[in-house]
Amino acid sequence: MPNVINTGRRRKSASNFFKSKGLGRPNKERREQRAIELAGRSLNYTLVRSPRRHRKLSLQINLTGAVEVRAPYAASEMDIDAMLRKHRDWLFERQREAARRPGPREWRYCNGERHPFMGEELALKIQRRQGRPRLERCGGELLVHSANTEADALKSLLSSWYTRQAQTVFSERLRYWSSRLDWVESVPPLRLRRMRSRWGSCSREGRLCLNTRLIKADPDCIDTVIVHELCHLQEFNHSKAFYQLMDSVLPGWREHQQRLDEMGVTLLRD
Ligand SMILES: [Zn+2]
Repeated sequence: MPNVINTGRRRKSASNFFKSKGLGRPNKERREQRAIELAGRSLNYTLVRSPRRHRKLSLQINLTGAVEVRAPYAASEMDIDAMLRKHRDWLFERQREAARRPGPREWRYCNGERHPFMGEELALKIQRRQGRPRLERCGGELLVHSANTEADALKSLLSSWYTRQAQTVFSERLRYWSSRLDWVESVPPLRLRRMRSRWGSCSREGRLCLNTRLIKADPDCIDTVIVHELCHLQEFNHSKAFYQLMDSVLPGWREHQQRLDEMGVTLLRD
């Protein structure tokens, strides 16, 4: 289901609008918290006034149910209210879905607790043992040997294990995809970071950054993020051409992306 609605209604020319009001053209976005009464219920939303040319009115709702309206400076209050009213049922339905979605999990780091790894769930098997703490995967289990079995100690053991796995897997997938895409001349430099709100990024200089937590998602989702960033080496934007490139490289990416979005809230926390 799409989570963005464009009204298709183009705004009037912004330059005329500002000329007629004797205003200079603002060049910054302006954000504002608002509420509207819809069928007896109050809906909170963020209104983002944007100076960009050709920007249509649009409505977005994110995975946590937060609503954002993007509008050109020239859009009237009436247009904005009318759009919210028109999509009222859709908005409330999406908010209900968001409320049903599992929130971030609280990890206890106890025996048998299952932790996500590359689309699987591995059960912790904790054994108190003297010597250097160790964590290794054994089939469907994550074997932990440690003198300290407190949650904090296990959390940091698990976190460095995730990082090592992420380094190995991401580098391998990056090499694989780099060799298949003809605009990628050499394997770009890769950095890993633990991020809260995004899976990856690509700098103008062509350096890739991937979220360590992506290692919890399944291999198709990992490929989707890597291919996305590699496509930015060719198209440094999210234009139609960019998405066409994505389609040609990885035809199933939209499904994987959607799965990743759905799991995001859970996977982005540890
Ligand atoms: Zn992007």
